[in-house]
Amino acid sequence: MAFENVSEQQAAQQAAGLRTQLNKWADEYYTYDSPSVEDSVYDKTYQQLVDLETKFPQIVTPDSPTQKVGDHTLPGFTKVNHEIPMLSLGDVFSKDELGEFVDRLSENDAVEFEYNCELKIDGLAINLRYENGIFVQGSTRGNGQIGEDITRNLKTIKSIPRKLSRPINIEVRGECYMPKESFAKLNEERQLNGEEPFANPRNAAAGSLRQLDPRVTRSRKLSTFMYNVADIDDLQSDTQSGMLEEFKELGFTINPDYKVAHNMADIDRYVDKYKDLRDGLPYGIDGIVIKVNSLPLQRSLGATVKVPRWAIAYKFPPEEVQTVVRDIEWTV
Ligand code: NAD
Repeated sequence: MAFENVSEQQAAQQAAGLRTQLNKWADEYYTYDSPSVEDSVYDKTYQQLVDLETKFPQIVTPDSPTQKVGDHTLPGFTKVNHEIPMLSLGDVFSKDELGEFVDRLSENDAVEFEYNCELKIDGLAINLRYENGIFVQGSTRGNGQIGEDITRNLKTIKSIPRKLSRPINIEVRGECYMPKESFAKLNEERQLNGEEPFANPRNAAAGSLRQLDPRVTRSRKLSTFMYNVADIDDLQSDTQSGMLEEFKELGFTINPDYKVAHNMADIDRYVDKYKDLRDGLPYGIDGIVIKVNSLPLQRSLGATVKVPRWAIAYKFPPEEVQTVVRDIEWTV
């Protein structure tokens, strides 16, 4: 976006308007699991704000959507403090931008980088805490610092182990999602019952997990893929791909379609492959996540207030058919 003729004052005014709009949409999406616009509309507006704030860094406010993760937690759930914050992901929408990310990372280091390519599962982030190998608490990401305690609901999901194969203390992070088949059945039932269908599987999963009655969650057929850990010191592996295999040994379900890449050409092939396979997968994906494979390197690259510097999401173009509807069943 060009801002040649925009003064700082005009930019600040424009940014304030964009923030108000984005905060309203974020509230509908994160707090009420009920978006009124497509993600692509949100993403475009968000990018306008990023462009303005990049051109005029002095207008950035600490409460700008560009500076914070997710949003509020619902009343009715106990709050959980994430000692190690749960972050979002930076995103790009073209191969050129993805290439720039890879170039930026590799030019800082003489060592050849390895990347782990993963599918970006269209669900919501969860944190599972184990003590001596026993599942003791599960929570949502919330605003990254404070999430909601949804332990009782997560205990109804078959893919989440109650006991690990080793008696370790660990916080494992990943995605809870609703398979496409369950989503289609659920929306069919809702329509037959005269209820509004869910907008998409992500909102259906979020609405189903943030239920005060775990029996409702159980009936929704959710599943999980785990892909991250709060503290890498709790692991034996020293790579992202090794971590996924370690998770499998511990008893978690991981997404098997990950691949280690050595350069942009490998990443390119992975992106194209899953762009084509996307529709046939039994769960929704909205892109690809590229991560630095070495865990010590991930740690040394660190994060901004909102996103890790060692990973990026390449977002697929929006799918053509999507209805936007509301769901308010979380209040049940
Ligand atoms: P995001 O969904 O773009 O990306 C970060 C999330 O990706 C992580 O928190 C994690 O939950 C998930 N993820 C899935 N697979 C992963 C993997 N393999 N590795 C790591 N993470 C993985 O970021 P966000 O902050 O959760 O949400 C922002 C997005 O939400 C926006 O880009 C927009 O598309 C959507 N949104 C839409 C509206 C709306 O009104 N439609 C409003 C707000 C936000």
